[in-house]
Amino acid sequence: LIGGALALVLVRRRRGLKVVWNLSLYAVETAVAAFIAATVLVDGSIDSFETWLVLLAAAFAAEFLGFVAVPTVIMVAGGEQSLGLFSQIGRLQMLSILTAMFGAVTGAAMLITPLLLVMAVIPVAGVGFLLRVHGRLSKDLHDLEQLHDFTTAIGGRDAVDAGLEHLLQILRSEAAAVAVPLDSSSDEARSSMAPTDGPAGAVRIAVDGSVTDRIVEWPVSAPPSRRTGVERVEPDGPATIAAQLVRQLGGERGLALPLDTSAAEGGYLLLFGRLGASTHYSIEEVQLFGSLGATLGARLSADQLVEQLEIQARTDALTGLANRAALETELANRVERSVSGSVVMLDIDRFKDVNDSLGHAIGDQLLHTIGQRLRANTRTVDLVARLGGDEFAVALADTDADGTSAQLRRLVDALNAPVTIEGMTLEVASSVGVACWPDDGATATDLLRMADIAMYEAKRTRQSPIRYQPSIDGTNALRLSLMGELRQALDERQLEIHLQPKVLTANRQLVGAEALIRWNHPVRGLIPPGEFIPVAEQSSLAAPLTIYVINEALETLTSEGWDDTHVLSVNLTARDLLDKQLPPTIERMLTDSGVDPSRIVFEVTEGSLIVDLDGAIRTLEHLRHLGAGVSVDDFGTGYASLQYLHRLPIDEVKIDRSFVHDMTTNPNSQAIVRATTTLVRDLGHVVVAEGVEDRATLSLLRDIGCDVAQGYHISRPLPVDEFVAWRETWEQSVVSRR
Ligand code: C2E
Ligand code: CA
Ligand code: CA
Repeated sequence: LIGGALALVLVRRRRGLKVVWNLSLYAVETAVAAFIAATVLVDGSIDSFETWLVLLAAAFAAEFLGFVAVPTVIMVAGGEQSLGLFSQIGRLQMLSILTAMFGAVTGAAMLITPLLLVMAVIPVAGVGFLLRVHGRLSKDLHDLEQLHDFTTAIGGRDAVDAGLEHLLQILRSEAAAVAVPLDSSSDEARSSMAPTDGPAGAVRIAVDGSVTDRIVEWPVSAPPSRRTGVERVEPDGPATIAAQLVRQLGGERGLALPLDTSAAEGGYLLLFGRLGASTHYSIEEVQLFGSLGATLGARLSADQLVEQLEIQARTDALTGLANRAALETELANRVERSVSGSVVMLDIDRFKDVNDSLGHAIGDQLLHTIGQRLRANTRTVDLVARLGGDEFAVALADTDADGTSAQLRRLVDALNAPVTIEGMTLEVASSVGVACWPDDGATATDLLRMADIAMYEAKRTRQSPIRYQPSIDGTNALRLSLMGELRQALDERQLEIHLQPKVLTANRQLVGAEALIRWNHPVRGLIPPGEFIPVAEQSSLAAPLTIYVINEALETLTSEGWDDTHVLSVNLTARDLLDKQLPPTIERMLTDSGVDPSRIVFEVTEGSLIVDLDGAIRTLEHLRHLGAGVSVDDFGTGYASLQYLHRLPIDEVKIDRSFVHDMTTNPNSQAIVRATTTLVRDLGHVVVAEGVEDRATLSLLRDIGCDVAQGYHISRPLPVDEFVAWRETWEQSVVSRR
């Protein structure tokens, strides 16, 4: 035990947990051996054969313990699953048994005649020497073997990949890369390698003298995103390179070796993310990295690096599919080469929800699965690419119209099958758009744009696949130009609100109105909100537009013709709910206008709540705290609505008009309206039905118990002055009915 402790601490310079572990193991081994000796040994005289047999058995038992424990602990702590470890450790244990027995025999001899001690020195020294030689030889042999494997591996065409892969295995690391300067003719790279270059602490130079100026080690954080590859970096000092690697690849602690072959001048070989208990590379590992790295560096040819870079430049790292650039090039080729073909563009619906609620790891796995499905359901002549985010594209090689549509159906079906990730089943839906040449367009750029437009149309209409048509393009071009004009429209107050009345189903009494925005375009005429609100939501105009509407609403509420008892509803977008500035702004506007906050109700659609439910709840609570009302709009169109309804700080629920408009003829719709009404009333909220288009619906709603109705049957949305006139006639008719 004492010998072991001294050897560990003084000779092998181990510290901390490792020393504790090894000494504990030695102690247990010794205890086992002593126990066996004590219980089995009868007389214990050194000249009895049995004594030696028992001692040998005790030594075996002790070493067997180590033989099981050491590889197990290495595998658990180091995360390396290799049964080869057992044979390696086993060989060492055999040596230990030999040494132990040899020591015992020498000791026994000394007990017989102390003078024999002098004689014993010779064999002890001899065995010690032999062991050392054997150790060094086998280590050298092992290194040579590794070097040989390594050299053979990097002799082939894919030297970079194979070399990096081997480095990972030999030095048990998570990621390795060759960093090539953007402009490899630059000389600055190497001259700025001095350790003083980096900010203090960013760069740590390996302590060993022989490698000080060649290998830098630095602490970094974040897990590697890609295991091996070639990276382009700015020619600069190691600190910059380390920092860039943090960004590009990530890792815990890394080694960088400047490469000075003509092919990779100014470049670096990088290795990081050491697996195992220690994140530091030992001096031996740093040296081995140095020699392996130099070998690899010498083998790198400019062609290989360029080729590797080109492959990577064409590949999407996450899915291994082609990337946007590759697709564009290939599509351009195909458009030129073949008479016809098509490009499919697709995007996963609600991908953002998956990412936000289940995390990026699951999101990435989902993208990966989608990529595999696309590949599995296309032919080898078709090119599948990920364009970024949740957008994919497929260049379909020439087929006749039937073939294309059959293939599209296959793709859509494959995409819409549920995906199981980590035991969770995710329902996946996608929007798919197609453009074909020569019919739809003549260049790759045009075709991609058209497939994109078709995809948006598919998303909008919830129908896939959609083939490009000039008619859908028109609305799209319109959208783009609208965005530019909207700001001006806001400044020039070309937008106004129209009011649509809300009445009690019980006695048709007016309770208030909903403010619906209208854009009175000087050239295009009246533009409905469905056309410009989605545009505004994707631009910086979202917040200004909402403020504009609230302003108009407050103005209406303070105007002469408005009845103080009536409530005005204003619509908020999903983006508004995420805007932390909005509630304080509304508070200020309410104070400035002097409007009683309880006269205003904010409508938020069910779908917009799901984006960030907790954030939405905070916003809604804030609004209600001000005294305003909150209503859930389009209820029944989002998913899982009933699950969180009781959690929402709301006053009112508006049943979506898709259920209301046919409830007198469609029993399913009617059942939904009934159930929702009951539930919402039980929760203590007001129930509103929108889209009431006839008298029958209105009376049915009253019978069901729905409180308020809104719809064309009562009135279309009206300009403010017309609304005031309408109200007078309406109220008269209500009174005269009584
Ligand atoms: P919404 O909040 O569901 O508004 C009701 C829509 O249904 C209005 O369309 C209204 O004209 C229409 N409608 C009313 N009664 C009936 C009916 O009996 N039958 C049918 N088929 N439709 C009826 P509008 O004005 O085109 O607004 C469409 C959507 O645009 C609104 O849906 C709302 O989500 C959004 N929106 C309108 N104004 C604003 C606004 O000021 N801000 C925001 N953020 N969104 C607005
Ligand atoms: Ca609404
Ligand atoms: Ca609605």
